[in-house]
Amino acid sequence: MTSYEKLLLENKAWASEKIKDDPQYFDRLSHLQKPEFLWIGCSDSRVPANEITGTQPGEICVHRNIANMVVHTDVNLLSVLDYAVNHLKVQHVIVCGHYGCGGIKAALTNHDYKQVLNMWLRNIKDVYRLHADELNVISDEEKRTNRLVELNVTEK
Ligand SMILES: [Zn+2]
Repeated sequence: MTSYEKLLLENKAWASEKIKDDPQYFDRLSHLQKPEFLWIGCSDSRVPANEITGTQPGEICVHRNIANMVVHTDVNLLSVLDYAVNHLKVQHVIVCGHYGCGGIKAALTNHDYKQVLNMWLRNIKDVYRLHADELNVISDEEKRTNRLVELNVTEK
């Protein structure tokens, strides 16, 4: 069995379990989307919004990208933000970073990740540039990376 076949089987098993526990689960979910939160988080597979907040489908509207960036020219993000705020009427917008973020680590290097990734990482490098005085005096690489994670969230 391939990994994607296993994934599809796991999805069927999950759906069956949901219906077994609550026969109206999907019917109810299909008619209700009233999340209180918009979550802007990192694409990193280790930080799934629903799982780390203990919430269920329908409770959080989620947008994810590398290093949870809020870029004012990102039409994808702006569309989600507009929809969440003006149509879903979310009450809170959360920008959630995470320590050890690979996107942040990549932006701290001069490695050439090629055109598309380089363009995205440029946004993080701009945050670094704005806070270079503070960051440049942190000699410990992990501490400097994690401080940039924090600044990258607050810079939105
Ligand atoms: Zn990340």
